[in-house]
Amino acid sequence: MNSKSFNPPTRILMGPGPSDVSTRVLEAMARPTIGHLDPVFISMMDEIKQLLQYAFQTTNELTFAVSAPGMAGMECCFANLVEEGDKVIICKNGFFGERMKENVERFGGIPIMVDDEWGKKVDLNKAEEALKNNPDAKVLAFVHAETSTGALSDPESLTKLAHEYDCLSIVDTVTGLAGVPLKVDEWNIDAIYSGTQKCLSASPGLSPISFSKAAQEKIKNRSSKVKSWFLDLNLIMSYWEGEGGRSYHHTAPINALYGLHEALLILKEIGIENSWNKHMENHLMLREGLESLGISYLVDKEDRLPQLNSIFIPDGVDDLASRQKLLNDFNLEIGAGLGVLAGKIWRIGLMGSSSTKSNINHCLESIRKVI
Ligand SMILES: *Cc1c(COP(=O)(O)O)cnc(C)c1O
Repeated sequence: MNSKSFNPPTRILMGPGPSDVSTRVLEAMARPTIGHLDPVFISMMDEIKQLLQYAFQTTNELTFAVSAPGMAGMECCFANLVEEGDKVIICKNGFFGERMKENVERFGGIPIMVDDEWGKKVDLNKAEEALKNNPDAKVLAFVHAETSTGALSDPESLTKLAHEYDCLSIVDTVTGLAGVPLKVDEWNIDAIYSGTQKCLSASPGLSPISFSKAAQEKIKNRSSKVKSWFLDLNLIMSYWEGEGGRSYHHTAPINALYGLHEALLILKEIGIENSWNKHMENHLMLREGLESLGISYLVDKEDRLPQLNSIFIPDGVDDLASRQKLLNDFNLEIGAGLGVLAGKIWRIGLMGSSSTKSNINHCLESIRKVI
């Protein structure tokens, strides 16, 4: 047993997440731990809520960070909005749609799958057909920014469609938040979840979520108890809601929340629109460099995520050996392909603090040497 302290190497994180966490955020996390019911901590939590409302562009009261990673945000949405026998239409265009299906089944719902090709955005016509064919469906769920493929879908149109057919929308924006335009109120999104380790560049392990009034109504009027104690929003809200009304639900991950607070402050300082623009500008710079190396993209130009670039591995290049070389010789982490795209693509993340011109130059130079 090695009894030395653990000292990780300094990597450049340009995969599908986590992204680089800035020194400023790391320093915030190293500050003294205080009690989670300490009034000073509670006022910081109120600030996090306001900052998350800004990031999501919403005034939703029910906006906070679940004390667990993005997958818990997903689970929280389905646990609270799905009851036994509820039909949920899931538009699946990659890896994370499959996990939505798992969630619906585990909470007793009936998933209706609408399959799109991996690398394509969610098709509105197919979604509408499923809504038409299932007039009793309760929810339409989809991924805004599909990290497994790099495809961007259209939450505004999909949510509008869901509402025309009396469904609520559940939106996965784990990779979308702060990286591409997202307007929860303007687009009338009902339930949305994200993660801290992608474009927010805080440490992993928290999941910002936001629920509309309509979604809250649905939760309040459930005929059965939420099947997860930890994720039951009725219980969690008693901790978060109301001035001074906090009571013990679970011990908050205090220092991780310091980090999220700092990361959200940085986002506020930059400005949400500038953050969206930064991701797009840097994407265009990376794209130009990759194209000059003869590398091509998986996703159609107009549907590409700026923060997640899926590129075909050039012919004759060894996937694993090349990525190992990038990591060992250049301290650079990029992502492998998932599922049907394993061995076919690489995924280059340009998320949050990792999205810089110098990182792009380093990435292009390293890939050029490796292939
Ligand atoms: C990363 C990711 C998740 C899961 O987040 P974790 O923090 O790893 O649990 C879910 N959905 C999408 C689209 C993601 O990119």
